[in-house]
Amino acid sequence: MKKIILILSLLAISITATIFTNKTSTPQSASDKRIYTVIIDPGHGGKDPGTTGLSGVYEKNIVLPIGTKLKNYLSKEYDDMKIVMTREKDEFIELKKRGQTANEQGGNLFVSIHCNARKSEENDKSGFEIYLLDLARIDEARDITLEENKFIAFNEKIDSSFISKNKILASLYQQAYLGYSERFSSIIETELIKGTRIPSRGLFQAGFWVLLAPSMPSILVECGYLSNNTDEEYLKSEKGQDEIAKSIFKAVRYFKMDYDFENSLMD
Ligand SMILES: [Zn+2]
Repeated sequence: MKKIILILSLLAISITATIFTNKTSTPQSASDKRIYTVIIDPGHGGKDPGTTGLSGVYEKNIVLPIGTKLKNYLSKEYDDMKIVMTREKDEFIELKKRGQTANEQGGNLFVSIHCNARKSEENDKSGFEIYLLDLARIDEARDITLEENKFIAFNEKIDSSFISKNKILASLYQQAYLGYSERFSSIIETELIKGTRIPSRGLFQAGFWVLLAPSMPSILVECGYLSNNTDEEYLKSEKGQDEIAKSIFKAVRYFKMDYDFENSLMD
């Protein structure tokens, strides 16, 4: 009997899910809080190569195919999702423009894709890391020591008004989105552990400037260390790039289901 009740319950859930899925194909209204627009941000590009791997491969040329594959997976899954890439080719896009695009396009989720390299004084490191914005550490002088910020500062003049203006804005929405960003990052971690050969180094918070401007749940994935032989081989390979993209895609799908359901209850 219990089994029948369970089957009936599952049936009811799947019917509800079907109705719900159909409902998501309607255009988004201003009050609709579901995820319709995903912003994919492949780091660096053009004159900014990002970090360089042991074999001489550039970070910018690894994160772009990962971002493109992620876009393709999402487009195949969702007819009604708008997927925006901050860059689709090897071009230099200013940091300010990345956040601006995300907001102008009405993004509901922002994923920045990068690869790491150990600092010269550090021992060999391997693994992926997922970052959330830490507003308390956004201080301009201090966070120039962060590798990703250093690349930006090197290639683009970041004035202190950009930092201070966006810091105020970020403090307003951080309360609303930090919990979602945390949830999303732990889902990505689980999927990357399951779906790739790169080990996890964990979830962190840092003062990454690129996470300052987007007014939506936002995370940055450092997919692995190009300064590590094993990570680099994997990150350079088609299979590795595909597995990373697919894992992030699965995480977006899972997070969207969760987020949409939660927000539909609040209507
Ligand atoms: Zn980077």
